[in-house]
Amino acid sequence: MENGGGANGNQWGFKANEELKTASGITVRGVLNSLLENLNKNDTRPLIPLGHGDPSAFPSFRTASVAVDAIVHSVRSARFNCYSSTVGILPARRAIADYLNRDLPYKLSPDDVYLTLGCTQAIEVILTVLARPGANILLPRPGFPYYEARATHSHLEVRHFDLLPAKGWEVDLDAVEALADENTVALVIINPGNPCGNVYTYQHLQKIAETAKKLGIMVIADEVYDHLAFGNTPFVPMGVFGSIVPVLTLGSISKRWIVPGWRLGWLVTSDPNGILQDSGIVDSIKSFLNISSDPATFIQGAVPQILEKTEEEFFSKITDILRETADICCDRLKEIPCITCPKKPEGSMFVMVKLNYSLLEGINSDMEFALKLAKEESVIVLPGITVGLKDWLRITFAVEPSALEDGLGRMKAFYDRHAKKQ
Ligand SMILES: *Cc1c(COP(=O)(O)O)cnc(C)c1O
Repeated sequence: MENGGGANGNQWGFKANEELKTASGITVRGVLNSLLENLNKNDTRPLIPLGHGDPSAFPSFRTASVAVDAIVHSVRSARFNCYSSTVGILPARRAIADYLNRDLPYKLSPDDVYLTLGCTQAIEVILTVLARPGANILLPRPGFPYYEARATHSHLEVRHFDLLPAKGWEVDLDAVEALADENTVALVIINPGNPCGNVYTYQHLQKIAETAKKLGIMVIADEVYDHLAFGNTPFVPMGVFGSIVPVLTLGSISKRWIVPGWRLGWLVTSDPNGILQDSGIVDSIKSFLNISSDPATFIQGAVPQILEKTEEEFFSKITDILRETADICCDRLKEIPCITCPKKPEGSMFVMVKLNYSLLEGINSDMEFALKLAKEESVIVLPGITVGLKDWLRITFAVEPSALEDGLGRMKAFYDRHAKKQ
């Protein structure tokens, strides 16, 4: 009923917040769902999911048994049936500080650590804290679309700088300088990178720190893929440069331990000079945590065991598989002329590859490529538009090696069928 009476032309006095539609925009989950709806139900072959970022269902990516035992032990102890404090329980914050301190030239204290519902809530917290009227934030393109959605929702203006494929997806620091003004509050980097699989060198991170210092802005370092580096460049946390520029380190156990459903993450002020404290950011983080919900206390209770007891063999097994599947991915993609990979991934679970439509018949966008591939071959890849870069695809190699071989073989067959005839 259109005009049924009442204040809003309706009997009832409520209406939804229309802004949410705009803020949620294009999301990874939304696009993956529309690809899944497009599958051919008569295809008897297994679905090959190369679009997601959650390999937990694959046998090769089962979490460490130490982590499972830690949860069981935490529940059985009956010590964590209580509410948590809003910043998180002390033993968990101490364990995370110790974990990060292994790689830092100074010492974080438990007071620098805030527990969050995955890295996702850490992003929500910091973007909400920074969203003063008029403020803007610099985000990478391609990137992780939750940042755009969250910033839009908080009325924080977004400005994009490019990651440069020819330079191994390094940050275009000239663009950063050109974009920043007196209302810029922060620069976001994702390292190891989603969607590009980049791992930044010590030197590049130092340059990022120096540029941010010059501009007077903080660095938000999304390190949710910390230590998932399997190439020649070792993972260096941005916090190493915390005495040059204040750094907010975001992380979680979701990716390294392959338990995204456990929803345990953190926000850490890597700032030995106390600039975030002095500028009121720390108080504001605490205020926001006072009005939001906390990770389940029994998961928090398991954190010390998980971080301290997981064996090196578990981590090296996972990075060995990722190295193997990244190799398979890049080798097999070379056989598909319409796809080029500018930079072999060295970390995370993803590679960005470019499409060349001039070699294809009747396919003119990344979305069209992904939709047809899903329908004809039951292979899911993520159209680049979802992560801010149209005409590209994001491919996940964090799947069972045999499934990856199968999926890339089907992509080759797809290309052969759609190749432009000479
Ligand atoms: C997966 C992911 C997150 C979210 O992590 P959760 O711990 O699952 O909330 C944040 N940032 C990036 C870049 C990611 O890929």
